[in-house]
Amino acid sequence: MINPQVSSLNKSATLKITALTKKLIREGKDVVNFAGGEPDFDTPLFIKEEAKAAIDKGLTKYTPSAGRIELKEAIAAKLNRENNIEASASNIIVTSGAKYSIFVAIFSLLAPGDEVIIPSPYWVSYPEMVKLTLAKTVVLPTKHSNDFKIDPVELEKIITPKTKLLILNYPSNPTGVTYSREELEAILKVVKEKKIFVLSDEIYEALTYDGRKHISFASLPGAFESTITINGFSKTFSMTGWRIGYLAADKRIIKEASKIIDHTTSCASSISQSAALAALGNKDWQEEIRNKFQERRDVIWEGLLNFPELKPLKPQGTFYLFCDVRGSGLGSFDFSTRLLENFLTSCIPADSFGQEGYLRLSFSTSLEQIAKGVQRIGEFLVTLKK
Ligand code: PMP
Repeated sequence: MINPQVSSLNKSATLKITALTKKLIREGKDVVNFAGGEPDFDTPLFIKEEAKAAIDKGLTKYTPSAGRIELKEAIAAKLNRENNIEASASNIIVTSGAKYSIFVAIFSLLAPGDEVIIPSPYWVSYPEMVKLTLAKTVVLPTKHSNDFKIDPVELEKIITPKTKLLILNYPSNPTGVTYSREELEAILKVVKEKKIFVLSDEIYEALTYDGRKHISFASLPGAFESTITINGFSKTFSMTGWRIGYLAADKRIIKEASKIIDHTTSCASSISQSAALAALGNKDWQEEIRNKFQERRDVIWEGLLNFPELKPLKPQGTFYLFCDVRGSGLGSFDFSTRLLENFLTSCIPADSFGQEGYLRLSFSTSLEQIAKGVQRIGEFLVTLKK
């Protein structure tokens, strides 16, 4: 009865932990939530005000399917100014969340039988979207000893004549690592030689720490034509519920990809588009948020370093910390379930990100909660020694 391709989609293993977390919170339990996937800050007032004004002005109708021209122009200007990407409005499609931009990009490029390289650990939705296209995911494992970054030699080895696309995501969900210009150039050399496309998901670009500057893949010389850049407003402006994101690509891709929007969502919410227009360019707010997250990153990182059973990876960006828990003697699923049930601290086992033995801890919560959660992890680890 049901399309087998749809039946084959995984229900994320993280859902069990998320459901249990919600249940405990509903019961009034004092849960420390390291499982969250969105900024805990409210959407800034100046953005909300603009959305209210848009409603009052009657900007509540369909927009062009690829987005309002003013917004596409503002996004192109932002990409030129901040990312060094030479895009114009005709290179942009605005979508209902960055996730839908990824889907549209993947669906536009991939035909049944094509191969897609996804480095692991990966964000859960990439392989599931690829399944729907009947293309084949080829996982490229990366190593903790190499900060879970792509080794260009390994990348080259797994490319075949059927390889169409490489999916990059940096700063990375779930590992929190990001790439330097030199590292990206080494990847570009391989993909150029082999003539494959790159989907570069840079949704966490605004959250990089210790003075690191985000380098967009499409800004590298000769990269733009074969790169689809994904970005949006969810993480940078605490706008996850507004559902607004975008992709930037060569016009040939835009022309085809727009048809998918025409026949599916029609356009992104007109009100959210007005809000997004207001959001662009407010560097002050972004800087404030980045500093707050960096302070939280320091507290969770330094806290976890006290436990010899754990091997945390220092986040270079995002609000996620990736941690090897195998030294505790438990697998990641058991570790997170017992930590939640017995010490009311919730985090995501990384099995569904393609990395057994690790946890993803989100530090998108207050400093007090972070300190409390780290203490509870310590108490949990003591019980395992008994
Ligand atoms: N890419 C990555 C790596 C993400 O973590 C997320 C959000 N969890 C998205 C894309 C999707 O963002 P949006 O909310 O704009 O759809």
